[in-house]
Amino acid sequence: MIVQKFGGTSVADPDAVLRLVAIARAGRAPDGRGPIIVVSALSGVTDALLTVAAEAGAARTADALALIDRLRERHLAMTRALVGQDQRTALDAEIADQFDQLAAVARALGVLREVSDRTLDVVAAMGELFSSRIVAAALVQAGLPGEWVDARRVMVTTGDHTRAVPLMRETAAALRAVVLPRVDAGRIPVLGGFVGATLDGRTTTLGRGGSDYSGAIVGAAVGASEIQIWTDVDGMLTADPRLIAEPRLVPHLSFAEAAELAYFGAKVLHPSTIHPAVERNIPVRILNSRKPDGLGTLITSEPAPGGDAVTAMAAKRDVTVIDITSSRMLMAYGFLRQVFEVFERFQTAVDVVTTSEVSVSVTVDDRRHLEAIVDALSEFGEVAIEPEMALLCAVGDRLRADPAIAARVVRVLEEVPLRMISQAASRRNITVIMRQADLPHAMHRLHEEFFGRPVAAPVEAR
Ligand code: ADP
Ligand code: ASP
Ligand code: MG
Repeated sequence: MIVQKFGGTSVADPDAVLRLVAIARAGRAPDGRGPIIVVSALSGVTDALLTVAAEAGAARTADALALIDRLRERHLAMTRALVGQDQRTALDAEIADQFDQLAAVARALGVLREVSDRTLDVVAAMGELFSSRIVAAALVQAGLPGEWVDARRVMVTTGDHTRAVPLMRETAAALRAVVLPRVDAGRIPVLGGFVGATLDGRTTTLGRGGSDYSGAIVGAAVGASEIQIWTDVDGMLTADPRLIAEPRLVPHLSFAEAAELAYFGAKVLHPSTIHPAVERNIPVRILNSRKPDGLGTLITSEPAPGGDAVTAMAAKRDVTVIDITSSRMLMAYGFLRQVFEVFERFQTAVDVVTTSEVSVSVTVDDRRHLEAIVDALSEFGEVAIEPEMALLCAVGDRLRADPAIAARVVRVLEEVPLRMISQAASRRNITVIMRQADLPHAMHRLHEEFFGRPVAAPVEAR
């Protein structure tokens, strides 16, 4: 039995949902079990919901209500296109009721003029709650036994609103108690991704892009044979297609490579997706919902057979470099601990670290507590920050065996001023930090070096 997660573009409109229905039909195991379906909000809806909250919180209630009306109409148009009258009356009533609640929240925010993270979660979660209900009804309409499951019943999380952390034991138990019996009865459970609730029932969300993570958690809890991530590209590509014109498809990735690529910016996978799959050794496949017959990218514990020196590249923008320089660091122990305690205190993740005798440089991409962090670090030495930096990273299991690859990475970027260079203990990636303005050029140089120029087939080969 498999788990199929569909991203926002794969449920964006009625045609997309009809493609989903066909994919789900093909995803049924020969014994009639599964698939379990996890869906994102319709594309653009999470952004729109967050805008609703921001507008209302800024006392622009009329704008917020107008946006709610447009969202309401978009969802009702979906049910009109996909669902017959017998199911639609109840479904539309539920959707209308949710939108009425959303409008009431917007009016309240307009009066209070303040949006807490807890309220943001209630608002943001509505996207997945709508889409999952619609998809369940569309499956039923197509003669498949779809059944909506409220994700808030099964995804149990901490109360860290907008970035809640799933409580794995409780979540796995709830999934096995609620979802598995439905699968065993031949039904196709449909859940919203991204959404959860605390043990005492407060709605939470897992952070942007978190539906992939939901899909993987569901897959691991029920012991799925495969976790499929259906999206709008053919699979993991050698580089971000928004930065490189013709990246190549990577047919096979190891879990470790995929985790590094996701962490360092390959948006096609949420950074936490791989962990649940690794724990149960469940293959993950990234597939294009517009081309369901494509092979996609298969991610397993095995390194890819053969393949390129570098498997793929990833990049992050809006990175900030923080330098701490102090003569107290010289020959001293305990200095780095003090520095990292500051980041821990402000719950800010550090991505890359380099040190010299008297200085340490780190990168962060969460700027929320930057001022306070700089203040606290100033106690230990001179602190300088450089915003608008970018991180570029080349990933591949083969980097471990062939040190010449790292040298090639640095050599091909020789005319780009590199601010930091790091190769971590896993030796599976080499990461460089540069000015953001240099990123497009650096990406092109690196992609050309390892994956060649995107050229049409030679004339004689046609
Ligand atoms: P979904 O809504 O299906 O979750 P996302 O927008 O979150 O889709 O992720 C898919 C997008 O990730 C692609 O459209 C692409 O622009 C971007 N992306 C960035 N890096 C990569 C990469 N290395 N391979 C594939 N896609 C990538
Ligand atoms: N809808 C959420 C978002 O846009 C979660 C997801 O799509 O993965 O971030
Ligand atoms: Mg995504």
